This record gives sequence, structure tokens and C-alpha cells, in this order.
Amino acid sequence: MQPHDKLFTPGPVEVSPKTWVAFSRPMISHRGDDFKNLYRAIHPGLQKLFNTKQPVFLSTSSAWGVMEASIRNLVNRGVLNCMCGAFSDKWFDVAKRCGKNAEPLQIDWGKHIDHKAVDRHLATGKFDTVTLVHNETSTGVMNPLGEICRVLAKHPDVALILDTVSSFSGVKIEMDALGIDVMLTGAQKALALPPGFSLFSVSEKGFARAEKIANRGFYFDFLEFKKQQTEWMTPSTPSIAHIHAVQSKLDEIFTEGLEARFDRHVRTNALVHDWVRHSGFDFFAEEGYRSKTLTCVKNNRRIDVLKLARDLRSKHRLVIDPGYGKIQGKTFRLSNMGDETEETISHLLACLDDVL
Ligand SMILES: *Cc1c(COP(=O)(O)O)cnc(C)c1O
Repeated sequence: MQPHDKLFTPGPVEVSPKTWVAFSRPMISHRGDDFKNLYRAIHPGLQKLFNTKQPVFLSTSSAWGVMEASIRNLVNRGVLNCMCGAFSDKWFDVAKRCGKNAEPLQIDWGKHIDHKAVDRHLATGKFDTVTLVHNETSTGVMNPLGEICRVLAKHPDVALILDTVSSFSGVKIEMDALGIDVMLTGAQKALALPPGFSLFSVSEKGFARAEKIANRGFYFDFLEFKKQQTEWMTPSTPSIAHIHAVQSKLDEIFTEGLEARFDRHVRTNALVHDWVRHSGFDFFAEEGYRSKTLTCVKNNRRIDVLKLARDLRSKHRLVIDPGYGKIQGKTFRLSNMGDETEETISHLLACLDDVL
């Protein structure tokens, strides 16, 4: 592959030469047997990653397409948006723009969503849907999914929409066992594919809800996806290049082994955490709720973060993120998601030391 600046940003992340080869395979028709065979071939692997018996869908959109679609397909009475960072905060705004009754459960950035607060809000009976971002990529917080799902289980009429964009395939998430009604992920984060594509799955409860909801539109209608999937097709022409890349990525994931992949993320994440402590920085995310796929470093040393990122890029051709939105400069983010290894993460940390 041609020389380039390597991304350690938490999305998009670096795409491997192997993935690019798959991405540029010759084109096939999306209404022919080649496509049906491709979708059929990748489906069991996708179900394994989602830990679901439900159909897994291929959406030619970035994750936001499916995040908005989930609101349009599921929300009837009202949606509770659990908010603790840029992506989860934005979901509230999106729900309102879709004309839905939406209420925020706002937590300070850097803190996690407390299941007891979710329980209190659901007890009002105002909500039939909850949105939750598993891994808040902007703050480096990983929310306690198991605890929150146990609360949801007490409210069988409430559906849970879960964003796993930056945790999917990096940590184990059991869609069916946890009772998740829509689980979605994007291409360019934990899966290390080029951006512009998403995967999602919907529970029986989610489909039943969608059937009762008017104005679901066409492009993102879950029932349309469901109907087409029984024939191994998608409602409209998908990004076939992405699906080839998904196939290649699944091969890689199951060759490495899921547990080995999760362990690799734990080890590379621990390397970053050690570096943060040794170099006198702190964590932006509270202890006990820190992501395994990225680290949001608190700039307690008050360094010039933009200069750090600039120097790292010009001297070592490595790209890091200088903090998301309102916490730019007060934080910076280091990603260990996707294909990174102890070797590549150690190299990043050594280069950071060099420019610091
Ligand atoms: C990046 C990200 C998104 C949005 O993804 P797009 O590809 O920009 O649509 C949503 N949620 C989380 C947690 C993310 O990290």
C-alpha cells in the first residue's frame, strides 16, 4: 500500500491492505445469485458477532442512518435518550427532529449511565423506547450494559435501541440474551472497514413494534429489510464493495478467534492505560467504566494538544484525535480498535513519548 499517515483516531480507523483488496473485488449484480450467495455466506458469521438468531441487515449508510431509522421504526409513545457524550446527546436531537416525544437522561460527560436513573425514568410510564450508546466514543466511557438491560427486562413494553459502533467485535455483546431490540454498528470504527456502511439486527419485539408505526419511510423501513433478507437481498442497491470487505473481515475475525480478538483489545487497551499513568496524564472517563477500544486522555498536564497531534503527524506519520467537540484540547483520544496489536500500539506510544 502507498505510504500514508496511519490513523489512530477512534473512527475512521486504519484500513488494512487485505481489506482494501476485498473492497476492490470485481462488481456483481445485487439482484443476481452471486449477491445472494455472498449475503448467505456472511450471515452466520454476522449472527455470531451479534449473538443473535435474528436476521442481520446490511445498510448502505453510516451509523447515523440506522440510528435515525431506529427512532422512526420504533418510537410511538416516547423515547428516553440516555446521554453522556457527543453521540448519545445528538440522538436526542435526532429523535426530536423526527417529530417524536423525546426526553433526555443527561449525565455529565465522562460519567456513565446509571441503571437506577433509567429505572426511575421508565417508572413514569412515559416511554416505550430507550436509546443507549454502549461505548461513548467521544468520552471513552463504556456504559454498564448488563445492569441497564436488567432494568429494561422489568419493562417488557419498552424497546432498547443500542449503538455499538465503537465496541462491536471488540468486546462481547449478546443481543438476544440481553434483550436488545435494535443493535447497530458502523463500518469504520471497531470493524476497521472504510466508512459509509452499517450492520444492524432487530428483535421480534422490534419488528412487532414497527408494524404498528406509520410513516417509516422506505429506505430505512425495517420491515422492508426483513422481507428482502428472506431472499438474501437488500431493499435498494447496497455498497457491494463494503459487503466484500465484511466477508474478508469475518474471515479474519474467526481465524483469529473471537475470544482472542477480545483479549487483544484488552491487552492493547492496557498498554495505553499504563502509558497514560506513567506519563502523568489522567483519564477523562471515570474509573470502572473505561472503554476497552479507545482511551480519552484528560489533558491535566495542560500541553498544547493540537501541537502534539501536529508533531506526531509530521514526524511519525501517525494521526491521533485532539478531542471531540467541546472537549477538544482538554482531552485527546487514542484508539486501539480494529486491527491494532501490542506492537503497533507500543509504536504509537513510543512516538508520543518522542514528540512530548
Ligand atoms: C462514530 C459514531 C457514530 C456515528 O457514526 P457515523 O458513521 O458518523 O454515522 C455513532 N455512534 C458512535 C458511538 C460513534 O462512535
